[in-house]
Amino acid sequence: VNQRAVNFGAGPSALPESVLEEACKGLLNFQGTGIGIAEISHRSKEFTSLLADLENNIRTQLDVPLTHKIIFTQGGGTGQFSAVVLNMLARHRLLHPNLSDEQRVMDYVLTGSWSKKAAAEAKRLGGASVHTVVDARTKSIDSKSFDGIPAHADFDFSVDPALIYYCENETVDGVQFSNDETSPASFPFHLLPTGGLWPLVADYSSSFMSRKIPRIADHAVIFAGAQKNVGPAGLTILIVRQDCIVDVDAAAQLGATPVPITMSYKTIADAGSLYNTPSTLSIYIAHLVLERSKKLGGIEYFESVNKRKAQRVYAALREGADRGFYHLKVKEGSGSWMNIVFNVLKNGDDAESKFLIGAEALGMKGLKGHRSVGGIRISLYNAITEEQTDNLVAYIKGWTTPES
Ligand code: PMP
Repeated sequence: VNQRAVNFGAGPSALPESVLEEACKGLLNFQGTGIGIAEISHRSKEFTSLLADLENNIRTQLDVPLTHKIIFTQGGGTGQFSAVVLNMLARHRLLHPNLSDEQRVMDYVLTGSWSKKAAAEAKRLGGASVHTVVDARTKSIDSKSFDGIPAHADFDFSVDPALIYYCENETVDGVQFSNDETSPASFPFHLLPTGGLWPLVADYSSSFMSRKIPRIADHAVIFAGAQKNVGPAGLTILIVRQDCIVDVDAAAQLGATPVPITMSYKTIADAGSLYNTPSTLSIYIAHLVLERSKKLGGIEYFESVNKRKAQRVYAALREGADRGFYHLKVKEGSGSWMNIVFNVLKNGDDAESKFLIGAEALGMKGLKGHRSVGGIRISLYNAITEEQTDNLVAYIKGWTTPES
């Protein structure tokens, strides 16, 4: 246990040690039942009450309004790339049964690799045309990279789309919407089509529970895999406005694509997230993580800690960049608090490998950038402490001194 590295990986990622210690006990004997958490029935009263507590913790800490249900499922963020399309198309079919597939539109905001993948899945599933609201690559410095949130004037929304999709934090590219509505890098809520409830879908996989969700009540669906800030992989958390929990079979009778039963929001919601066996172990650990968060002060606590962590890392990188040691890949203002991406330009050939080896020697791991973009990526999820961040900042600064 003393040999644990500091894990700056992008996900699955670091979990608080106190939670892991507690989870070890629960694996052997869950709440005095004599049965371990990975062995106990998901219909036992101990487990169902834990599930209710997890839901309650998310609702209170994130201020989820009563217009929205919280549901738990599996399949990860990728499962939701498909599920949001199928459920939102079913909803749109019930609202507008007579539109052709060509007339039906799904709006995608492309700000990075994950929103690009989600749009590709929407195209693959069909049932409507896919409209690109904006492709950030066309506004980037090199015309091909995802390096920032485009200007609000560049967003072109459709009039009555079945869904409007964005990824709040792009884990691979390190691009995040600002949570300050006055920032040019915020999501342009003021430009959304008027009339009716917005079919706004947000992928919060890598920023869920790290800070407040701006305009949470205006969203149709918010989804997140647990494996960054909340717990182990295997659990997917959804916040769904009730008008988006529709009878998908009724929609299918009108011509919508049939929805696999485990992807139907209504099926899951009606069964209290227990239609089929849920990821009990992940749910248990997520519960421990959020109980700990509550004691520490909830989302406000993490928001201020995460902001400070990111500010210190960006400041050190910017200072080094001014002297030619680093290249920050994302435009100022669009940089993620959770995933910070950059290149090491000095010292010598193979600077990045040396940077990684040096960090590993100090017990800091998981810093290699995503294989599709290379470079270095620092992930600063909730379980990474300020002290651990400061040690990394010292390393970043040390790299730029003549002796290094
Ligand atoms: N969206 C984002 C923003 C992600 O970071 C990831 C995974 N890293 C996914 C979607 C895909 O999630 P999963 O691997 O859980 O399917």
